[in-house]
Amino acid sequence: MTDTLDIQITKTSHSRLQETDFDNLPFGKIFSDHMFVADYADGEWKNFQIVPYGDISLSPAISALHYGQAFFEGIKAYKHEDGKVVIFRPNKNAERANKSAERLCMPELPEDIFVQSIAALVDIDRDWIPTKANHALYIRPFMFATDAFLGVQASTTYKFMILTGPVGPYFSKALRVKIESYYTRAAQGGMGFAKAAGNYASTMMPAKKAVEDGFDQIIWTDGSHHEFIEEMGAANAMFILDGKLVTPVAGDTILNGVTRDTVIKLAEAWGIPVEQRNVAVAEIIEGAKSGKLTDAFGAGTAATIAPVGSIYYNGEEYTLSDPATREFSQKVLKTLDDIRYGRIEDTYGWNYVV
Ligand SMILES: *Cc1c(COP(=O)(O)O)cnc(C)c1O
Repeated sequence: MTDTLDIQITKTSHSRLQETDFDNLPFGKIFSDHMFVADYADGEWKNFQIVPYGDISLSPAISALHYGQAFFEGIKAYKHEDGKVVIFRPNKNAERANKSAERLCMPELPEDIFVQSIAALVDIDRDWIPTKANHALYIRPFMFATDAFLGVQASTTYKFMILTGPVGPYFSKALRVKIESYYTRAAQGGMGFAKAAGNYASTMMPAKKAVEDGFDQIIWTDGSHHEFIEEMGAANAMFILDGKLVTPVAGDTILNGVTRDTVIKLAEAWGIPVEQRNVAVAEIIEGAKSGKLTDAFGAGTAATIAPVGSIYYNGEEYTLSDPATREFSQKVLKTLDDIRYGRIEDTYGWNYVV
């Protein structure tokens, strides 16, 4: 830790650590003892604080609530066997947070402030990091507009906050997914590439319908003709088709995932051809039929590598190979785990040591 960021720290007088059941960690429901808060006003970030996790008081007129000027990030921290604590590639999230901020007309947060505040918070609550396999400390930075003003215009004040909490695996089995051919998550010129709160609001109703029909996730397609694959729920869609790693281009409509980038870098290092291009629904279905589609998964921080078990499209369901037999995603998952849990050397410099 550098000491350039002056954070005022108020520690809790009652830790909830002892009363937390680490054998039962539903995603996103358990929060560590502390949270980070900073304010933006008069053109600058100030009041950097770490305080006990708890409710906050806000005007009911804040523009985040009415017009959705808000975005978030998702990152994980891991504890190694020797007690060392690492955060996985937080600089990539800092970079992406600023892309979200720019698109939503929100203030930039300098990358070093973003990373240092996360590190300081993780350091204070390091005992909350679970050590079991497939477990981690989930880190949720977010920023939202706080002007109490009902006019539709960019706020002049904001809050940046960080919550953390211990999590286990997000998905426990291969996913039954449905290719969506009516609803749209993002459009050209929109904000699909930003981790904007509003992007998720629009996916909830279609996702609920899909779950009612027995599916675990939606594969989103392009907003113009539903002809090309975009993303899988809140994870990037990746395929091994004809021996190549194929994934949609991280353009306007797609969240440029850190996990996606990590998988691509590993594939390149292993000499597997990588194609970032438009991926037609037709070729995925064709590949599922012919057997050339040998792997399909969602890649994301929360989901890690989530194998697709079957794909539903136009009244047909295509079952893919048993995930346990898939060479690529199994190797990616193992290598990722080995790096994150410190079992092999981190030659890429992906672990930020707290
Ligand atoms: C967060 C997210 C991802 C995955 O990004 P990571 O940086 O790998 O966690 C992919 N798609 C959407 C829509 C997301 O919100």
